[in-house]
Amino acid sequence: MKRPLVRDDLNAMDSYHSPQVEVDVRLNTNEAPFPPPEEFERAFLQEVKRVSWNRYPDRLALSLREDLAELHQVEPEQVFVANGSNEVLQTLCLTFGGYGRTALTFEPTYAMYGQIARVAQCRVAEVQRNESFQISLDVLERAIELEKPDLMFLCSPNNPTGTPESLEVIEASLGLSSGVVLVDEAYGQFADFTALDLLRAQNASESLVVTRTFSKTWSMAGVRLGYCVAPPWMFEEFQKVVMPYHLDAVKQVAGRVALRFHDQMETRVAQISDERRRVSEAMTQLGVEVWPSQANFILFGTSPCDLSGDEVWKRLLDSSVLVRNCSSWPGLKDCLRVTLGTQQENTIFLEALQEALQ
Ligand SMILES: *Cc1c(COP(=O)(O)O)cnc(C)c1O
Repeated sequence: MKRPLVRDDLNAMDSYHSPQVEVDVRLNTNEAPFPPPEEFERAFLQEVKRVSWNRYPDRLALSLREDLAELHQVEPEQVFVANGSNEVLQTLCLTFGGYGRTALTFEPTYAMYGQIARVAQCRVAEVQRNESFQISLDVLERAIELEKPDLMFLCSPNNPTGTPESLEVIEASLGLSSGVVLVDEAYGQFADFTALDLLRAQNASESLVVTRTFSKTWSMAGVRLGYCVAPPWMFEEFQKVVMPYHLDAVKQVAGRVALRFHDQMETRVAQISDERRRVSEAMTQLGVEVWPSQANFILFGTSPCDLSGDEVWKRLLDSSVLVRNCSSWPGLKDCLRVTLGTQQENTIFLEALQEALQ
């Protein structure tokens, strides 16, 4: 039987894959190692009883947007919520990208930027970061001049390198580009800098968008909830490209209840940041190259130990520890990325790494 043809451009594309293997210690997708607090579950079950199952949800998710606006001290009109920040990225690509338009990425970075932009038929221009994974100002300037991006993706802290973007780079981007400047802060709470401050300014930029997610710091990857803070005029435009009622009622409740436990979230973030210090130091002692991270993961290179990243990844997996193998990604030869887990998981990882390096 003959199969209908898919789009030519999709034929040349891979789908997202991060292996979901059964292991004892799963440190490959940067999720939180802890569930949300028990009180969250009780409060959520209480609230969810009030959902009108036969009715469509609040299409504009007004209550949730109000709560998020209060959290960030911005206006509800500046907040757009979606099914994970990936849907926010897709919405941006559909609104500002598309055929004949250009998206700019700074590699190595989160692979979904290029993927989502290409699916939206956007041309993707890739520029390399320097050896410390920063964006050099001269490289930035040249890229914007040459590519004239309609949309550019900054990531702070950057996945998979853990480095935050500098305020200088963000301000230069806003000054030089006439397109949208996206700052993805999926790990923003772990860093000591946020671009959200720029959105609260009196004369805030008309082109800056900052995304956040419930998937990492809020321990809610299972719910698929993310949002952005943007100039208010964009909200109307986003409504044209998203499905009506894309954000279901249960998810809106989950998000609102989660926000009541902000302090507990910050405690978890602090705990993980302490672990980051301990684990980074221990890894440096073991002789791998460790890049300083401001996120809940650590990028490390195995070449100082005369072993390939693939080999160390396999040996860790033999010890039932799963990390992300970035070895084959451009600019990341022999690099692996480990998500910080619970203290116990991290200790198991360090023991497995020590063994793997022998
Ligand atoms: C994990 C991650 C996200 C989260 O995506 P969701 O769709 O919100 O789960 C977004 N950006 C980066 C850089 C990430 O690492």
